Amino acid sequence: MTRIGIIGAGQLGRMLALAGIPLGRRFALYDPDPEAPAASLGAFTCGRWDDGERLDALAASCDVVTYEFENVPVAAAARLAARVPVHPSPRALEVAQDRLKEKHLFRDLGIGTAPFFAVDSHDDLTRAVASIGLPAVLKTRTQGYDGKGQRVLRKAGDVDSAFAALGGRPLILEGFVPFARELSILAARSRTGQTAFWPLVENVHRDGILRLSIAPAPGSDVALAEAAMTLAGRALEALDYVGVLAIELFEHEGRLLANEMAPRVHNSGHWTIEGARTSQFENHLRAVLGLPLGSTGTTGFAAMVNLVGETPDPASLLEIDGSHLHLYGKPARPGRKLGHVTLVEPSRDALMSALARVASVVDEPSLSR
Ligand code: AMP
Repeated sequence: MTRIGIIGAGQLGRMLALAGIPLGRRFALYDPDPEAPAASLGAFTCGRWDDGERLDALAASCDVVTYEFENVPVAAAARLAARVPVHPSPRALEVAQDRLKEKHLFRDLGIGTAPFFAVDSHDDLTRAVASIGLPAVLKTRTQGYDGKGQRVLRKAGDVDSAFAALGGRPLILEGFVPFARELSILAARSRTGQTAFWPLVENVHRDGILRLSIAPAPGSDVALAEAAMTLAGRALEALDYVGVLAIELFEHEGRLLANEMAPRVHNSGHWTIEGARTSQFENHLRAVLGLPLGSTGTTGFAAMVNLVGETPDPASLLEIDGSHLHLYGKPARPGRKLGHVTLVEPSRDALMSALARVASVVDEPSLSR
């Protein structure tokens, strides 16, 4: 029986393994945290991301390896790839780990982005601010997630304090995009080259953390959806990509600007478990196994609400007709994603009513829209 190695045993690894079990696959999971949510779903190795010996042992025990976590050192990924097929490739990982490389890839592919400059010194920052203007966003090039490692510069006086907070690491300054809304496109490409795209998703963040996804994104016209598929298709081809790729987008003045990409299944695709004919998790596995991809058509109008920091009484969420509750089995901590609720309804109106019921249980201001 094929055994799939997953680097990272968080909730994404857990949902990947749960999607692969009906396909008759076994899993080997790898994570530095002995209590990781997916640890019980297969053979588990507790090891550091750069522990070559343990990673070699994982490679030896698997037919194919994938990731649910993109900050695996590229050297470790390359070491794995020398021993076992690894998808997505270490090159995709390398680009996605660095906001500057990511933005260059988008630019090279003719995909719009906010204006950006590399910042390695205070002088670079002064020049970048002079060129881009304010407001702007200063970000660490690597290791940032959920809004961590970034500062918005609104006035000249913010420049020094932002550099003091983030300097010393490679940085990027981006123009601040006064976007109409945030969207994402999830796409899959199989080892055979087959591609598939889910509909555009609208995402609402608060404090840099995703709170709500709605799919298909309300009010998106065909042209916007096609533009998103075209840009995602270009990125898939350019990276000779295998697996699910998520690209986070800003909609600004009717155009799509790419913010960042994740070389893995993504939080804004969790709705696909119940809201699409094939989930992002199943299609990711099909892609890395070289199996035909499943339909990305929707089963209704879907919304996904993240449970962040604390979990309401599960019964109060399950009481809501048609709600699907996913709890990751993680200890509560402020800002931590502990689970999510998905709603799928036959009409937009029914979805909004069900969402209002979730909003009465989940204490999250961004749900009151
Ligand atoms: P990121 O870590 O790049 O995904 O950024 C986290 C959140 O910060 C995004 O989801 C946006 O809400 C906001 N953000 C990031 N970059 C920009 C930008 N250039 N302009 C406006 N908002 C941004």
